[in-house]
Amino acid sequence: MAKKEFQAESKRLLEMMINSIYSQREVFLRELISNASDAMDKIYYKTLTDESLIFNKDDYFIKIIPNKENRTLTIIDTGIGMTNEELEANLGVIARSGSLAFKKENEIKDGHDIIGQFGVGFYAAFMVADVVTVISKALGSETAYKWESEGADGYTLVPYEKASIGTEIILTIKENTEDENYDEFLEEYRLKSIIKKYSDFIRYPIKMDVTTTKPKVEDENELEEVQEEQIINSMVPIWRKNKKELTTEDYEKFYNEKHYGFDKPLKHLHISVDGTIRYNAILYIPESIPFDYYSKEFEKGLELYSSGVLIMNKSADLLPDHFSFVKGLVDSEDLSLNISREMLQQDRQLKFIAKNLAKKIKSALQSMQKDERENYEKFYQAFGRQLKYGVYSDFGANKEALQDLLMFYSSKEKKLVTLDEYISRMPEDQKYIYYATGESKERIEKLPQTELVADKGYEILYFTEDIDEFAIKMLMTYKEKEFKNVSSGDLGIESEDNDKKTEAEQEENKDLFDSMKDLLGEKVASVKVSKRLKTHPVCLTTKGEVTIEMEKILSAMPDNQNVKASKVLEINTNHEVFQSLKEAHATDKEKLALYTNLLYNQALLIEGLPIQDPVEFTNDICKVMV
Ligand code: ADP
Ligand code: MG
Repeated sequence: MAKKEFQAESKRLLEMMINSIYSQREVFLRELISNASDAMDKIYYKTLTDESLIFNKDDYFIKIIPNKENRTLTIIDTGIGMTNEELEANLGVIARSGSLAFKKENEIKDGHDIIGQFGVGFYAAFMVADVVTVISKALGSETAYKWESEGADGYTLVPYEKASIGTEIILTIKENTEDENYDEFLEEYRLKSIIKKYSDFIRYPIKMDVTTTKPKVEDENELEEVQEEQIINSMVPIWRKNKKELTTEDYEKFYNEKHYGFDKPLKHLHISVDGTIRYNAILYIPESIPFDYYSKEFEKGLELYSSGVLIMNKSADLLPDHFSFVKGLVDSEDLSLNISREMLQQDRQLKFIAKNLAKKIKSALQSMQKDERENYEKFYQAFGRQLKYGVYSDFGANKEALQDLLMFYSSKEKKLVTLDEYISRMPEDQKYIYYATGESKERIEKLPQTELVADKGYEILYFTEDIDEFAIKMLMTYKEKEFKNVSSGDLGIESEDNDKKTEAEQEENKDLFDSMKDLLGEKVASVKVSKRLKTHPVCLTTKGEVTIEMEKILSAMPDNQNVKASKVLEINTNHEVFQSLKEAHATDKEKLALYTNLLYNQALLIEGLPIQDPVEFTNDICKVMV
């Protein structure tokens, strides 16, 4: 019998399959089961329009038969079957294989990536089989046909005997090699676990004869091995069930079964969308951070199913980075028929779903913030940083969407508050949203720079994470209110009287401040009278965009650009120390130098900045003491 050649493109895809040293060969079964399920769907749709056909649920099933002696694995379905022409058209030719087109467009050198990510279809069978035999009888057809191929050199197609409608695929499993074990694809337990893993939610029963031990009928004390037909898959996915019939416990159980995490999720979302693109999704907001969450190793993504068939473990496109903590899955029937054929179309659908999901996640978080504050705080402790990165990254593209989810510790409320809550409490005369930065709450609480603002009775937000100030600088304003670092620039709360007094003092002591600036050189931009200090003698503030906290963070980065904050040494003229400075300036230049250095170093310490010469500093203190 003459062998027919595969079309050129099919041949290449086939070769790619056969030669791929691909670790997840097991997906071949997912592909064949999904084709079987599609074939039964097709009959089902026919029965909806053709009255001469009756759909009897029990007639539709998939059966998996491993046979170790013959080294065959058979997959039987009772689907629509294929005619002679269809066998030729569908299995002999890949008119425009999605996988192959995708590979070309993206210039992927070998096939591994695609195989891992997308449905690869019927040809996946060649990853595990030397010979693939397809016996099929189409609905409405008298004769059956047998298609057979040993791989890239071609296939044969002949009439054959088959009683019932449907398809039977017989894989002659490859012999083990030194590096590869193929025997596993003939083991019941292995097949069971592959089915469970990828095809658990296929709507039709996947049956297999499983060996179990049972008490003998004659003697209950003795066990015997029997073959028993079992349905391996659970068939109804939880996401297709009615929300009303499910309890929180069910969702939590599913979370654990799916190994999304060891924790209990803080919240679940069950979404069913029935619009232009239909999909179901179950999403979870976890309680605790995965150990690798803030590392490069972490991979975000949702599981992607099409009509109950898992097609991707982690579809990263479904989640924006700022919601990368979300776990769960999406199932869409609208992806199913095109999954390996029309990559671009699918891409658009995924984008659409992703956009929808992002909205839902945001509103779920918002309602949690409003109604389940304790849970939200737990969530925020774990993932707040990610939201702040989200505000900052992509040049602030998502800042509007995320700003309401932010929270910061409040000097007044002594707990996390939202920006909206802050604004709603602002007194009429308060111009800015004030914040202070530092290593910890305790440290910020003691910052001299907060004195005047706190004294005014204004609330201060405490920024203790690296990203905080960067995110806020990206935000710039919230509900038209500007943010103001208590340590930088003008605080915008001085009274006119006070302003005049400060100006006069600055003028009066110009000589002193100029000398101090000369003594400190490039270390500070200027020395001036403080308007923000009440009891402390000295503090450092900054002018311009870069604050001290930002300088610290930037200088700790690997690609340190040596960005420096422009620092101002502020002196409290109401403090006794100021009198000592004046005296020293008038009488003893050496003393002025000593005092200036001491005050500057103190200011550095308060800021948590390193002192250049600690030994000199301690010696200076001793000088003052004796
Ligand atoms: P896809 O499923 O993405 O269309 P496949 O390579 O998996 O691509 O299958 C190619 C085609 O072969 C299917 O579209 C279908 O028409 C046909 N086919 C494969 N397996 C079966 C089957 N078990 N029953 C009926 N038709 C099948
Ligand atoms: Mg398929």
